[in-house]
Amino acid sequence: MSRRRQIYEGKAKILYEGPEPGTIIQYFKDDATAFNAEKKGTINGKGVINNRISEHIFTLLNHIGIPSHFIRRLNMREQLVKQVEIVPIEVIVRNVAAGSLSKRLGIEEGTQLPHTLLEYCYKDDALGDPLVAEEHIACFGWASQEEMQDISAMAIRINDFMAGMFAGIGIKLVDFKLEFGRVFEGDFSRIILADEISPDGCRLWDMETNEKLDKDRFRRDLGGEAEAYQEVARRLGLFPEGVSEVLDLNSERKKRGK
Ligand code: UDP
Repeated sequence: MSRRRQIYEGKAKILYEGPEPGTIIQYFKDDATAFNAEKKGTINGKGVINNRISEHIFTLLNHIGIPSHFIRRLNMREQLVKQVEIVPIEVIVRNVAAGSLSKRLGIEEGTQLPHTLLEYCYKDDALGDPLVAEEHIACFGWASQEEMQDISAMAIRINDFMAGMFAGIGIKLVDFKLEFGRVFEGDFSRIILADEISPDGCRLWDMETNEKLDKDRFRRDLGGEAEAYQEVARRLGLFPEGVSEVLDLNSERKKRGK
């Protein structure tokens, strides 16, 4: 890992130069942050789980025709992806009121929304990723109107697919965040799904009990965050060998310095 050139270190991932031009390696860390990185911590095994969950979801999305940067998973914590120019917009997809929507508009958490709501935030840590309107996106040229049409259509399809997938394993998809990027082909560019989809960027509630199975456990000091991420992976049928076995093995290796 040492000779690879690091391109960027984010809050939950490190990006390294990939083996071929136009590729990047995403390394998933156990680090967790919340409230614009004011709260910091680690969730044991999170990187391994998110790498696998994101691989799973991006692969399924690919089967239904959603193009993404995902190429293949390389190992427990890394995946190979296409290099993209990230659109500086976080797309928030909401089915049920929670988090900042509830706070901003005084809507009780857990209220089912009459239809899926798309929100856009401008990606800028220093500004705290402010909510913006499509008019801002057009006005400041963060994405073209055609790109926003592709982005919103993909976001709705992704939501329909994921809501069904999670419903099938007894989980309510409350809301989630997506990021998109541009790939250039000659004089043209097209929009593809980028970043990751994992319990870090989704609100996932158990359908029967409303128990939170996502990063809100960390944000709100509820405890049991590692177990919640493991439970999502288990219900998705990932880690058939047993999540805890895989993670224990890892820490054993680390102890032995390998
Ligand atoms: N989200 C995210 N990254 C962000 C902001 C939000 O992944 O920088 C996700 C978050 O996990 C939740 C959804 O987007 O699933 C909606 O988040 P919200 O706007 O309610 O913000 P929060 O309550 O997390 O501040």
